[in-house]
Amino acid sequence: MTAIERARTVAVIGAGTMGQGIAQVALLAGHRVRLYDSVPERAREAVQTVTGRVERLVAKGRLDRAEADDAATRLESAETLTGLASAALVIEAIVEDVTVKRKLFAALEGVVSPDALLATNTSSLSVTELAAGLAHPGRFLGLHFFNPAPLLPLVEVVSGHATDPAAAERAYRTVLGWGKTPVRCADTPGFIVNRIARPFYAEAFAVYEEQGADPATIDAVLRESGGFKMGPFQLTDLIGQDVNEAVTRSVWDSFFRSPKFTPSLAQRRLVQAGRLGRKSGHGWFPYA
Ligand code: NAD
Repeated sequence: MTAIERARTVAVIGAGTMGQGIAQVALLAGHRVRLYDSVPERAREAVQTVTGRVERLVAKGRLDRAEADDAATRLESAETLTGLASAALVIEAIVEDVTVKRKLFAALEGVVSPDALLATNTSSLSVTELAAGLAHPGRFLGLHFFNPAPLLPLVEVVSGHATDPAAAERAYRTVLGWGKTPVRCADTPGFIVNRIARPFYAEAFAVYEEQGADPATIDAVLRESGGFKMGPFQLTDLIGQDVNEAVTRSVWDSFFRSPKFTPSLAQRRLVQAGRLGRKSGHGWFPYA
């Protein structure tokens, strides 16, 4: 039994890339899962997508038929925020915008019980800033999953200035019970992974801009000699150039625009051209 008991409801807000993945993880851990999106159609479609992915696990022999049938009965979309009232844990995965996220959490406080945990999947915003103004900021924290959430084990459990250590511990144990590898960290810009990864991307882009080598060569060097599963160009095409650039800008701003984190002009041009990576059919590389 996890710290958030299996029978309890997990609400996932934002039915996009991350919300769908997180919903699948919580569902297969045995929870009742409610998915909410400000565009209700997206939440309904996400239920179909997650159900389809669970079916594929059965087809691949990775999940029992009975488990998949049981999971299907525990997943539903919510048409309104009030449909999340029974949640013991809420994980937010909406647009990376501090104002929009704060507005959502302020509204949620009036919906869920005071002992429900409120978590954000933000990649780069300050957990402390997101919690400011809440009536009960002690139960607010970051649960930063990585993409694709069902496959990648790491979850950063981020404590902000006001996070109650007992709340962080409950969240840590819950995620551990889901088979993930949680890591506790404090609310510093970019947390652990997204901060350390900034120079990795930036230096690769700089080598390219200085005509040191082309993207395919740099990727190959890092994969084959560096031991990385993906090179920085491939990886940012998977993440989305817009998403990756937004995280860089956020970390850069948080460090008072330290030159160490200056965004890349070559990446800026890609974003301006709409070459966002796999999702738009073209990024550093073309995708059929
Ligand atoms: P996405 O664009 O795929 O999905 C976001 C969803 O949120 C959309 O369906 C949108 O309709 C919905 N939404 C927007 N505003 C809303 C609101 N006010 N209330 C309810 N729903 C709302 O985004 P994503 O890539 O899944 O990212 C979501 C969050 O996860 C962001 O904070 C992002 O930084 C973080 N994150 C992303 C990745 C990644 O690789 N994409 C990895 C880790 C963390």
